[in-house]
Amino acid sequence: MYYTKDSILFLNGKFMKAVDAHTDLFSQTLHYGFGAFEGIRAYQSLNGVKVFKAREHFDRLKKSCTLVGIPFNYESEDLIQVAYQLLKKNNLSNAYIRPLVYCGAQMTLTPAPDVFLMMCAWEWDKYHGGHLLKLCISSYQRPNPNAWKLEAKVTGHYVNSILATSEAKVRGYDDALMLDMNGFVGEAPGANFFMEKGGELHTPAPGHILPGITRQTVINICRELEIPVIERNIRPEELEGADSAFLCGTAAEIAAIESIDAKPFRKEWRDSIGATIQEAYKCQVLEKSFSYVII
Ligand code: PMP
Repeated sequence: MYYTKDSILFLNGKFMKAVDAHTDLFSQTLHYGFGAFEGIRAYQSLNGVKVFKAREHFDRLKKSCTLVGIPFNYESEDLIQVAYQLLKKNNLSNAYIRPLVYCGAQMTLTPAPDVFLMMCAWEWDKYHGGHLLKLCISSYQRPNPNAWKLEAKVTGHYVNSILATSEAKVRGYDDALMLDMNGFVGEAPGANFFMEKGGELHTPAPGHILPGITRQTVINICRELEIPVIERNIRPEELEGADSAFLCGTAAEIAAIESIDAKPFRKEWRDSIGATIQEAYKCQVLEKSFSYVII
């Protein structure tokens, strides 16, 4: 599903067939989750294939590595060129691009001396399938920010995300909403959270979340459309009184939430601020103009 015998990936400065690429089973990343990665989308825009927010993603990859002490000797500009070449070599336009920085053999807990960069791409449809989502409040909290570098997109952090997603699916929900260690609303396992209340959007402030690139794009869209955005601590009891809510992320894009713990929101999705943001986001990734009418 992610690759065929013909797929090409980029590994340590060279393009090669995915089936010919190998990794060391003694890799520190494989054993201890010490690596960093990105999730990027490319779109067939009106002006050709465009990697959306490419610079922001590769800059964050560098930041993630720096924050945890993984040597990173690449320029974002060069990696953007690699991403475009990768799409071309695989004949992809609407695609998901995954750069991964991983460490070589090391069984001690000091950073491994050898570090590798892999980049691959595949076609990936809407992460949540495009329907309205039924979420549950997870029994898994977001990690303590004093125990991790939470602004870094580190491979090991995703054990928490997998636990929360699996629990939600077992309970019959589409996805989870995790609270932080203080009991405030945090984020979904792979996406940020916004709720609408009285014509404003509210979203958790940075601190216990991965402050996503899509989250920032949403904030920028709101600024343009003069929709107030408030970053603050949100108590889970407040969700019931909200008008609507959505998740956002590179893979998730803008995903409507129908209910949380089976409690639906007041507004129909199509009448929500989120629906307007969803349309504006789609226009932005496709480089189409967007006109917004306040009725
Ligand atoms: N939170 C988590 C935990 C994530 O994994 C992601 C996906 N990278 C996001 C939020 C959304 O981030 P972005 O918009 O940068 O993709």
